[in-house]
This record gives sequence, C-alpha cells and structure tokens, in this order.
Amino acid sequence: MSLKSKTAVITGSNSGIGLGVVRELAKAGADVVLNSFTDRDEDHALAEAIGQEFGVKARYIKADMSQGAECRALIEQAGTCDILVNNAGIQHVAPIDEFPIEKWDAIIAINMNSAFHTTAAALPLMRKAGWGRVINIASAHGLTASPFKSAYVSAKHGVVGMTKVVALETAKEAITANAICPGYVHTPLVDAQIPDTAKKYGMSEQEAIEKVILERQPSKQFATVEQIGGTAVFLCSDAAAQITGTTISVDGGWTAL
Ligand code: NAD
Repeated sequence: MSLKSKTAVITGSNSGIGLGVVRELAKAGADVVLNSFTDRDEDHALAEAIGQEFGVKARYIKADMSQGAECRALIEQAGTCDILVNNAGIQHVAPIDEFPIEKWDAIIAINMNSAFHTTAAALPLMRKAGWGRVINIASAHGLTASPFKSAYVSAKHGVVGMTKVVALETAKEAITANAICPGYVHTPLVDAQIPDTAKKYGMSEQEAIEKVILERQPSKQFATVEQIGGTAVFLCSDAAAQITGTTISVDGGWTAL
C-alpha cells in the first residue's frame, strides 16, 4: 500500500519502537516527522538519513512530551499531520508506597497526557485534510497489570480509554483512533530493565530475559520494532478504515492467557 502524500508525526522516535514505526511508515511512502527532547546533531542526521533511504520528506522537531505546550507546538510546527503516532514513553519500577512522586508525574505526563495534547492539536488538521489516523502505542500493560509498575499501568490503561473516546468523537469522519498494545519488544527501554532483573533474581542476564522478562509472553520471543511498525502501516490502510476504538495486541499471546 502507498502512504504517499501523507505526513506522519511520531513522538519519541529517535530509538526503539518509535524509530521502527518511522521506518515502516516511510517505507510505505509517508513523509515523516521524527521527535525527541534531545535536539542533538545526530537526531537531525537520523531524519536526513531516513529521508534519503526511503525517498520521502523527513525532518526532526524537538519537543519535550512532558510539557503540554511543547506537545501542541510539535503538531503546529509539523503543519500537516495525517497520521499521529503517540509513542513517547518512559518507565519506572517501584512499590506504590515507595514510588517517587516526580517519577509518577513524569510517566503520566509523557506516556498519557502527551497523547491528549497532540491529539487535540492534530484533529483539526486531520479534519481539514478529510482523513486521519491516530495510533497510540499503549502496551500489554494497558490491558493487564504487573506489580511495581503503578504509574506505567495507569498511564497505559488511560491511553487505551482515551483511544476509545477519540474513536467515538470521530466515528462519522474518515478518521480512526486505535491503540497498539505490544508485549515485550527488545528496545533500550527493556534493555535498561535487564541488569536489575538479573541482579534481583541472582541470574545471568540471558536467564533473566528467558525466565523473568518473557515469563508472561507465551511465544517466548520478543516482538520486533518492524512488527509494531507494520501494524501501524496496516492501521493506515483502506482495509483498516472501519477499525476504530480498538486495541491490537502484538504480544506473543500475553493477553490471551
Ligand atoms: P525507548 O526508550 O527506546 O524509546 C522511548 C522514546 O521516547 C525515545 O525515542 C525517547 O527519546 C522518547 N522520549 C522519552 N522521553 C521523552 C520526552 N520527554 N519527550 C520526547 N520524547 C521522549 O523505548 P521503547 O521500548 O521503544 O518504547 C516506546 C513506546 O513503546 C513507549 O510508549 C513504551 O511504553 C511502549 N512499549 C514498549 C514496550 C517494550 O517492550 N519495549 C512494550 C510495550 C509498550
């Protein structure tokens, strides 16, 4: 399928799943806007390289997704936003009675509130264009829970709920809103959890991956960033035009358990 003439804005897209989504959408012909809060030379160079590799327009816009005004400014600066992928996210693991308030606030702001702000700013542009796709990267933790991830689980459940509301508010238009719920995908966010998990259980890092991290993923394999990106491309296709307000799990069977 071709997404030529569509512009996609992908938040938090200089690594991991966000970058995988950028690559798959660009491969399908979409112009892409990459984002992070870092604004390094390499972020701009990455966008340029993607543009050259796939023959699409690609640019980088700095915006801190913990700040509502910057989320809205990202969409304003993009100018066009046919496809919005809310992907930026962070994680922190601690018992709820010891959970640092600043971590709670940051996770709720980046993982959930940012999607409210970008969606509010993008919908008028989608309406003007007469077509739009809102794709929220939620998580298996938006449908189930794990101990010690109170902020993350709350934010991801919130994103799943918000997705349904956006779908209902746009149901009569050529706009859809859906959430992709990945299980574990091997990215820097997951990499950061491996050493602590291995230490906590007195295991090697490989054992920690197999026995702890992938414990709830029946396939016993990580999902890939290409599979998440491919799911996003499918949600942009004509075949998915009546799919709205739902979640697509890419989790090796986690939520079937
Ligand atoms: P990652 O750490 O590789 O990527 C996170 C991205 O968010 C990075 O590009 C980072 O620059 C960006 N980001 C962080 N804080 C930001 C801020 N304040 N402003 C702008 N950008 C910011 O992690 P990932 O695993 O690729 O995660 C991407 C999304 O997928 C997250 O929402 C995460 O919750 C979700 N997810 C990941 C997994 C997994 O197993 N990796 C599973 C389910 C859901």
